[in-house]
Amino acid sequence: MKIPFIDLQAQYQAYKQEIDKAIQNVLDSSQYIMGPEVKKLEDGLARYTGSKHAIACSSGTDALLIALMAMDIQPGDEVITTPFTFISTTEVVSLLGAIPVFVDIEPDTFNIDSSKIEEKITAKTKAIIPVSLYGQVADMYEINVIAAKYNLIVIEDGAQSFGATYKGKKSCNLSDFGCTSFFPSKPLGCYGDGGALFTNNDALAEKSRMILAHGSRVRYQHEVVGINGRLDAIQGAILNVKLKYFAEEVQKREEIGTAYTELLRGKGLSLPVVKQDRTSVYAQFTVRSEKREELLERFNSNGVPTAIYYPKPLHLQQCYESLGYKTGDFPIAEKAAKEVFSLPMSPFITFEQQKLVSSIL
Ligand SMILES: *Cc1c(COP(=O)(O)O)cnc(C)c1O
Repeated sequence: MKIPFIDLQAQYQAYKQEIDKAIQNVLDSSQYIMGPEVKKLEDGLARYTGSKHAIACSSGTDALLIALMAMDIQPGDEVITTPFTFISTTEVVSLLGAIPVFVDIEPDTFNIDSSKIEEKITAKTKAIIPVSLYGQVADMYEINVIAAKYNLIVIEDGAQSFGATYKGKKSCNLSDFGCTSFFPSKPLGCYGDGGALFTNNDALAEKSRMILAHGSRVRYQHEVVGINGRLDAIQGAILNVKLKYFAEEVQKREEIGTAYTELLRGKGLSLPVVKQDRTSVYAQFTVRSEKREELLERFNSNGVPTAIYYPKPLHLQQCYESLGYKTGDFPIAEKAAKEVFSLPMSPFITFEQQKLVSSIL
């Protein structure tokens, strides 16, 4: 039995007829960028999250960039975030000339430690970007309270948590802006690059739409400097099919996460911790062990694929040498980077496959 790390093929086969038809319809329409499929997607995403505005765009990275641009982040501004995330989270900050300021993570959820944020706030701090890692939302309530106190904006990087809930509300609808990614392997993925941003603020929504269309509301009139951040109609059409089944998939993800937890209990791994007031969509089923190398070797030699998200925290990346951080600055993130690994996970993994994964330990 071969176990894919993320079974995108099983998902495609399950919805194939509808997806093929949706793609063909776009080809027949000759409307290849934005258009009615993308509009329909935005309506569906807004309904799903409860957010007033959902704005589809070209990727999760661009969603973050557009949110920061809409908030008028300037060179020299400081943006507080976690060092234990994908580079996109801070890349966009740096591209605008702003400065990522890191805060260590919690050892059990791997999300930013909200109790350590306040000590990093300076007169230059403009925003906080909590990342909802592995499918679980960060401490948004505490973060929003801090942000309100210092008049900061909060942008949730929900690239891995779309569909997760926090105190009964959906990820991406928990702060000034929520951003997500439709990269194929994310909880809601398309067949290329795609993303979306969410806000309840009419003015920010309108500004975001303008930025993603080259800073323009009326063709060839450019009010601000923008980007090409549009979503393709084919991706919109694919997402419209997948969104119909997404709630069902999220339910399956939770069941599979619970089954893994039961199968793996007592096998010497640290298992995912999901806080009381939230749910995880298990974008990754991530465990940790001090004997990671040995365990990965065992999984690999038995044909079970694994992955490491992320082997090197951002404050130690070469591209951030100039920020002046060093090893030891964020010990919890550094330790996590040495110990975490993720097991095969998708709504289409079977219980037999999960048993096989756990039998290797
Ligand atoms: C995937 C990811 C992104 C970027 O999304 P893209 O659509 O690939 O640009 C940003 N942040 C996190 C935490 C991610 O996992």
